[in-house]
This record gives sequence, C-alpha cells and structure tokens, in this order.
Amino acid sequence: MAYPEKSILVLVDVDPSGDAASSTAALIGAAATIGAPVALIVGGSQAATDVAAQAGAQVVLTTLGDASSLTVPAVDALQAAYRQVQPDAVLISNSIAGRDVAGRFAVREKLALSVDVVGVSRDDEGVTAQHSVYGGSYLTESAPTFGTPVITVRQGAVDARAEAVASPVVEELSVTASGAAAATVGEIAAEEKTSSRPELRGATRVVSGGRGLGSKEKFVLVEQLADALGAAVGASRAAVDAGYIPYAHQVGQTGVSVSPQLYIALGISGAIQHRAGMQTAKTIVAINKDGDAPIFDVADFGIVGDVFTVVPQVIEALEAR
Ligand code: FAD
Repeated sequence: MAYPEKSILVLVDVDPSGDAASSTAALIGAAATIGAPVALIVGGSQAATDVAAQAGAQVVLTTLGDASSLTVPAVDALQAAYRQVQPDAVLISNSIAGRDVAGRFAVREKLALSVDVVGVSRDDEGVTAQHSVYGGSYLTESAPTFGTPVITVRQGAVDARAEAVASPVVEELSVTASGAAAATVGEIAAEEKTSSRPELRGATRVVSGGRGLGSKEKFVLVEQLADALGAAVGASRAAVDAGYIPYAHQVGQTGVSVSPQLYIALGISGAIQHRAGMQTAKTIVAINKDGDAPIFDVADFGIVGDVFTVVPQVIEALEAR
C-alpha cells in the first residue's frame, strides 16, 4: 500500500498483556508535529490499536502473535516496517525496552541514533532532535548527516497531542523472524510493578525524597504524599545510598530521567546530578529547611521549612478536598 507522505514510524511500547503504554499519545503527538504518524504495534491487542488511532496514527501496522518481553522480535518487526514504509524518521519511547530496540535497530540498518530527546522539529533539511544537557541548563540539537534519524523520546517531555483518527488504515505486517537465540522462560515482576503507584518513568506526578528524610522509616512520608497525589515515588542518590528506597527510584544523572507535570522534591538539596534527571519537569515544588539550597534555583514554588511539619499539613489539605 502507499503510505502517507512524510511518514513518521512510531514504535508503540506494549506491555506483556498487549496494552499500549501511557507514552503512546505523546509519541504519536510528537510524530504528528513533523509528519504523518504510522504506528507499529508488535503483538498488541485491538485495544492497543484503538489507543494508537485515538492518539492520531493514520496507519497502524500490527504483527501476529502475543506481546513479548524479548527485544529481537520487536527489532525484526521494526526493520520490516521501516523497509516497507520508508519513513522520514523513526520515533521510539526512551523506555528501557525502547532504548534496547532503538540501539539494535539503528545498528542493523546503519542509521544515526538520537537518544533521550525532549523535542523534535522539522525544516527543509529534515528532522532535528532536541536534547536537554548539563542538567537541563542547555538545549542542543542533533540531526543525522545521512539516512533516516532514529529517535528515542524522553517520556513526558513532549506535550504535543494529535487529533484522533476515526478510521485508521490497519495493516498486518509480515515479519521474517531473524531467529532469536533467546526465549522467555518466565517473568519476575519488578518491585515497581507490584505497587499500585504509577511507574516512575513516564509518571505525570512524582514525589521524591532525599537525605533530609533521615531514615528508611521516615521516608514513608514521601510515599504518603505520593499516594495522596496519585504520584510515583522518586529519590535522590543519597537517599538510595542510605537504603531508604531501592535504586530503581533514583532520579538523576545515574538514575531515571523524568519529565512529569509536577515534581515535588522533599529534603533534596538539588545537586546538579539530581537536577539532570528532573529539571525538565513542568512544575517543580521544593520543600527544604535550607533557604539557600540549590533546588530552589529550579523550583517554581518553594517552601522553606521542615518536611515533617509541612508535608503532613499538605497531605491533610489534599485529603480534605
Ligand atoms: P543532601 O545533598 O545531603 O541534601 C539533603 C537536603 O535535605 C539538604 O538540602 C537539607 O537542607 C535538607 N533537609 C535536611 N533535613 C530536612 C528536613 N527535616 N526538612 C527539609 N529539608 C531537610 N544524585 C542524585 O540524586 N541522582 C543521581 O543520579 C546522581 N548521580 C551522581 C553521579 C555522580 C557521578 C556523582 C559524583 C554524584 C551523583 N549524585 C546523584 C549525587 C549528588 O551529587 C548529591 O550528592 C545527591 O543528589 C544529594 O542527595 P540529597 O539532596 O538527598 O542529599
């Protein structure tokens, strides 16, 4: 079939039950700002196809079979879709799975890869990706000097949303498996997944705690505020190193990068390595008893005070609503 002009191929993240990840709308929204979104769903359900159309995909390519947590089947499908659609760019979520697929795919097709991108744009020269660097202090741009760009988009960083497509073209993609040497023998739920809280990466609200919480027992305050807001729980490296919470929650240069609508930092000084992972949040609120803490330099709202005095009042006010 003929694909739309200026097609942008979007790999939709699908969870093991076949549902589209929450990053789908922003990824397809970003694609729509630079061309016509063509979504690829590897082993997804009808529900995932509907989500992609709702998010603005004009064409949805699907593959047979169940969703798999293995990377190679997704790379095989992406390669088949890429060769068939010949898009102007390939957009993939900067999730753990997405980065794995993107790297392998870019190597296979010998294409340039831009990772952890916070925006995309297009001019006569082609597609350009924007990166937030040096702890969010600067925006830089990257564009390939040859071939189609493969871009992983930081979850939550792009606000663009596309119009829903009422009746997208849905096409089943024929994929030749490259013969993966790996097989799934079982799945162990990550600690993050067993909690009813949203996953840190991609959450729209994050409450993070730092060394200022003082102990693992007292860190519960961070979780209580997170639950009152329906937020994910994050932490500074100092809090992780002190054993208040597992590493999976670390936000920053050597942890997870987040771009939520709301980021609340409790007892976190705001070292550059921490800011590198949260500075692109839309609204930042800091509570710290030191009025000179660098976190206030990036905060939109700040409270100089003791978290153990302020936070219970915030929770009480939220619960009274
Ligand atoms: P601190 O800097 O000790 O700050 C604690 C804050 O709590 C202080 O500002 C204090 O005023 C406040 N406080 C204390 N008690 C209270 C109270 N009762 N109420 C209110 N406020 C209170 N850090 C990260 O976070 N993420 C990373 O990914 C990361 N990667 C790193 C990579 C490298 C290579 C290096 C060298 C460092 C990295 N770090 C990272 C560490 C970083 O430099 C800081 O050491 C760390 O972020 C500090 O954590 P913190 O703000 O919780 O602790």
